[in-house]
Amino acid sequence: MNFGTVYLVGAGPGDPKLLTIGGKEALEIADVVVYDRLVHPNQLKLAPAGAELVYVGKQADQHTLTQDKINVVLSDRALAGKTVVRLKGGDPFVFGRGGEEAEHLRALNIPFVVIPGITSAISAPAYAGIPVTHRDASSSFAVITGHERSDKSEAGTRISGLAEERRRWDKIAFAADTLIFLMGVESLSEITSRLLENGRLSSTPVALVRWGTWADKQETVVGDLGTIAETVQKIGFKSPAVTIIGDVVNWRSKLQWWDNRPLFGKSVLVTRAREQSSGLIDLLIKEGAVPIEFPAIRITEPSDGYASLDSALLSVNKYDWVIFTSVNSVAVVASRLKAIGRDARSFAGLKIAAVGQTTADALAGFGLTADFVPTKFTGEEVAAAFPEDPSGKKVLIPRAKDGNNALPSILTERGALVTLATAYETTIDSSLAPLISTKLSQQEVDVITFTSSSTVKNFISAIGQDTNSLGSALIACIGPSTAQTAREQFLREPDIIAEEHTVHGLLVALKSHYQNGLK
Ligand code: SAH
Repeated sequence: MNFGTVYLVGAGPGDPKLLTIGGKEALEIADVVVYDRLVHPNQLKLAPAGAELVYVGKQADQHTLTQDKINVVLSDRALAGKTVVRLKGGDPFVFGRGGEEAEHLRALNIPFVVIPGITSAISAPAYAGIPVTHRDASSSFAVITGHERSDKSEAGTRISGLAEERRRWDKIAFAADTLIFLMGVESLSEITSRLLENGRLSSTPVALVRWGTWADKQETVVGDLGTIAETVQKIGFKSPAVTIIGDVVNWRSKLQWWDNRPLFGKSVLVTRAREQSSGLIDLLIKEGAVPIEFPAIRITEPSDGYASLDSALLSVNKYDWVIFTSVNSVAVVASRLKAIGRDARSFAGLKIAAVGQTTADALAGFGLTADFVPTKFTGEEVAAAFPEDPSGKKVLIPRAKDGNNALPSILTERGALVTLATAYETTIDSSLAPLISTKLSQQEVDVITFTSSSTVKNFISAIGQDTNSLGSALIACIGPSTAQTAREQFLREPDIIAEEHTVHGLLVALKSHYQNGLK
């Protein structure tokens, strides 16, 4: 049998997007992924569903697998013909012991590929707004291990004890303008004293960035060489952190860009159904928030097996208007048309309304341009803006079973003949409720977002009536009718109500809430 290849892949420092294309492609073909502690869990999802995932990092109650054992995990799988990805934080050859793994594989004639990664040494400072070089401050940087470690350690070099004694601090102190220490939190006072003894000024700026590039965890402390060790000790600042020593640290006050965004690190609960939540989730991630998905409902096939929708679609040309109230109804109508052997041509000659630009965009993806796109979304507002007198018009609304009745009843009052066809049903999904309740009561949620009245009701059905258990979370609503439902259900005023009733508007409202310094 042929040996499998081992890919020694740098995962980057944490932000899952800081993985190279080569790294992603290797993960996509992996039979086995051997990963450690500083790897973001989302990257593991790139591996095929059946891939074996082997964790070799530190565990609270267990010691690290020794390097020898990790080497054997890699070679055993490769000798059995498996494609192995060894996924390591940062770059595999920067204090990652990738060199030793490659030596082991070479000794056994196992083919390997090295895919470098973005090391935390430069990227954690970058995400804190610190350039490791700058023409006005630093023309060199050196990356140094904070302390020499014994063979059993997760990283570091093999030499210990004596070697530590023999380190040439006089050379290290002036190795470069910017000194970057990895694994240097525990020995920070040792490092700073040695650098001071060897002539670095106590006023030299220093920053420590922990969990750099991790949206939910990055923290930075800034000080100077004379006092930083004491500060770090006092505030209990812990590893993993990169320590940056040099004038470039001063640039943080000018260049901070990532951890000063208004939503940075805020955990935001998204209560929409999974099928509808990706837009909001993407926007939140872009703004630095940490979305927590809690789809209190699941979208399911209607209990009539699409009978009412299919029959409406088979004779859709008898209607004057079709009104789409959500992206979801567009998706279902498109797929049912296909199922009954029709296509977008069935809509020739009909007028189409799409409630909201996102719904209109979904229709456009299906080749249909909406004639009427109301920008206000309550039933009253849509009816008020309706471009013609609805009297006598036949109107089809494919939508959720038991959806909001405001629009159909107002149109009916104005003389329209409204047909409601069930495109989908929603069922309460409380599977995540215990987890979410715990997060709420432990104050781990900053904001709960509601994008419709039904998300409020579903949230309560899933989580239970006790709304005191929301912890300190703020309530944010997409618009006035959602806010009214929230008011009734939670017996308190929502904290944030969007002015523009779209997910984008909701995001703007969240940002301005935090921008204004409100907590
Ligand atoms: N190969 C890795 C370094 C492994 S040594 C790399 O290239 O980044 C482990 C040390 O790296 C940690 O103790 C810490 O000093 C640093 N480190 C790794 N990821 C980090 C992160 N996201 N933020 C801050 N420091 C990090």
